[in-house]
Amino acid sequence: MKIPKTTKRFCPYCKKQTQQKIKLVSTGAKRGTLTRGSLQRAKQRGLNRGIGNKGKWGSKPPIAKNKRKSKTTKKTNIMYTCTVCSKSKYQKKGIRMGKQIQE
Ligand SMILES: [Zn+2]
Repeated sequence: MKIPKTTKRFCPYCKKQTQQKIKLVSTGAKRGTLTRGSLQRAKQRGLNRGIGNKGKWGSKPPIAKNKRKSKTTKKTNIMYTCTVCSKSKYQKKGIRMGKQIQE
């Protein structure tokens, strides 16, 4: 789907319609990689080393959990930046798109 670089839409700070820049932002950074019970933390603590059955930290399934993908498209997150007051508003759009192209 093609997305224009600018649109005219309502700015809640200016309280009127203004020209706004469109920016595609990532769906979110990875958080809490070293939380309790995470594989990364366990490896840093040395829980997957040694002889014998390593249990939970031992062998992995042939296809990793994050690679078992069923969805072919991604949801888009759009950031609108007002050109008048230069304030940004984030909008989480619930539309699934294969590829986003900015014109
Ligand atoms: Zn504004």
